[in-house]
Amino acid sequence: PATDPVLAVNNIEVIYDHVVLVLKGVSLAVPRGGIVALLGANGAGKTTTLKAVSNLLHAERGEVTKGSILFEGERVDRSSPNDLVRRGCIQVMEGRHCFGHLTIEENLLTGAFTRRDGRAAIRADLEKVYAYFPRLRERRKSMAGYTSGGEQQMCAVGRALMSRPKMILLDEPSMGLAPQIVEEIFEIVRDLNAKEGVSFLLAEQNTNMALKYATYGYILETGRVVMDGDAAMLRTNEDVKEFYLGVT
Ligand code: ATP
Repeated sequence: PATDPVLAVNNIEVIYDHVVLVLKGVSLAVPRGGIVALLGANGAGKTTTLKAVSNLLHAERGEVTKGSILFEGERVDRSSPNDLVRRGCIQVMEGRHCFGHLTIEENLLTGAFTRRDGRAAIRADLEKVYAYFPRLRERRKSMAGYTSGGEQQMCAVGRALMSRPKMILLDEPSMGLAPQIVEEIFEIVRDLNAKEGVSFLLAEQNTNMALKYATYGYILETGRVVMDGDAAMLRTNEDVKEFYLGVT
């Protein structure tokens, strides 16, 4: 367990539609400045866990019915999604969710919606995003809907950065992307972590890739954490190898 967790999820239970119990007591912690992988097969509950943290379950008739969630030591399980963003915790949803009819730059600017520090600061951060993602600078005037999957994923991460997050919940960034693009994105994640101190909780089915970049990992199976440990340990663990590596 992390000694100074930026995020602590304690024994949460999530129920959809008042009847479907999907998380059956999940606990995890992300140390300040860490990259933690949340692994597991399709349907294990990764997305549900991230949405429980960012309080996005209500739209799907889901509810945290037990346990607690702390961000920087404070209970946030009753906070609104916007409050979480203001505190510095933002989710990048699975499937990228860029506004297809807006340009890349307009998409990035929408990410600054919770900020009140004025144009100059927002401009400066836009430059910073372009420095991390040179491809986005090249494509800044293109409609997001006409850019590649990799560029849209970069746009979604860049948009999150515009809120100046302390922590990003990144859902399945590798989905549908070629391995070298996934690698390119994970390299930037590593850079953001090292240089900006952004912590990451990274939900991935691509165990191999995630464990290459994460420092610690949790494995979910049907709503329960069945194993956790240092990424180096998980990479060499025989069960992990058998069930999760080589299948992605
Ligand atoms: P994925 O790779 O699809 O994102 P996941 O590990 O993130 O998988 P979840 O999306 O969290 O898994 O889903 C966990 C379980 O909850 C699945 O069995 C799914 O069918 C169920 N589930 C998800 N959303 C709802 C919902 N709105 N209502 C009822 N059940 C749901």
